[in-house]
Amino acid sequence: MVIVMKDSATEGMVHAVWEKLEKQGFQVHQVVGVNQTILGGIGDIRDVDIREYEVMEGVQEVLRITEPYKLASRTFHPDNTIVEVREASFGGEIVTVCAGPCSVESEEQLYTIAREVKKCGAKVLRAGAFKPRTSPYAFQGLGEKGLQLMQQVGEELEIATVSEIMEIAQLDMMLKYIDIIQVGARNMQNYSLLRELGHIRKPILLKRGLSATIEELLMAAEYIMSGGNYDVILCERGIRTFETYTRNTMDISAIPVTQKHSHLPIIADPSHGTGRRDKVAPMARAAVAAGANGLIIEVHHDPDHALSDGAQSIYPNQFHRLMEELRMIAWAIGKRI
Ligand code: PEP
Ligand code: MN
Repeated sequence: MVIVMKDSATEGMVHAVWEKLEKQGFQVHQVVGVNQTILGGIGDIRDVDIREYEVMEGVQEVLRITEPYKLASRTFHPDNTIVEVREASFGGEIVTVCAGPCSVESEEQLYTIAREVKKCGAKVLRAGAFKPRTSPYAFQGLGEKGLQLMQQVGEELEIATVSEIMEIAQLDMMLKYIDIIQVGARNMQNYSLLRELGHIRKPILLKRGLSATIEELLMAAEYIMSGGNYDVILCERGIRTFETYTRNTMDISAIPVTQKHSHLPIIADPSHGTGRRDKVAPMARAAVAAGANGLIIEVHHDPDHALSDGAQSIYPNQFHRLMEELRMIAWAIGKRI
């Protein structure tokens, strides 16, 4: 249930509604807008007469949230959420590009690629230190050493960092070294991990599961938000279909659909979305044109020798050209890079 307070509502009036909600067993979440306060009561509304709230002083309107996700819903939070991290922001007029190698491989590799992507306008350096590989024999990432390198390079080049967490045991390490914590597609429904991430105060980049519906993605976000962490950035990274010419089928329509139902920013990952270097730029352009709040692009200076995802990593010169194209597309739809 959402209770929209009038512009003129005093703190006392908001407090009275809050108290009543708590007394009726609701968990209360608050959105303070430019003019208005909105209270969200999460709980069972079957036995509640919403007119009791409608008649309270300072209340403008009471709405039921019909979607199963509540805090992630646009009904609860009509304005876009803007997630800010260092120089980067997601959800406003800026299209924020996160780029880097799939995995941190060495100090030299990370510096080389980070310098290139920063020069081209990427605002976030993205690379994995813990890698969820399909094969247990494939490179699994550098672990803590990789996170330390991310922090070192991020600080020296003044660029925010994002890296993937695979299990709760890695959380302290992530908090120490990384600005944005990524939950990968395979962990989108790891509910105990999502709950833990609700208790921290760092942004979470939540990728859509391989076979997850948009509603399931938003329910996963709800797990994080219900713990009080509202800084969730969603990511469309392609889903499994019967198609075999691409690694995944990138669902561009998920971008406007999600933006209609949720206030959370959504970015797109055409690298994992297609799995092929030559398909990354077209799908990146399409995602920005469709309104994505940002992108994840895998870039490698020597992809033939990359320890993971070389085939979908673009060269720095291709990234440079792509960023130029994206600037024009962003401009055409009233945004900036
Ligand atoms: C990644 O971002 O490197 C990754 C493993 O992606 P996903 O979880 O989308 O497969
Ligand atoms: Mn990858």
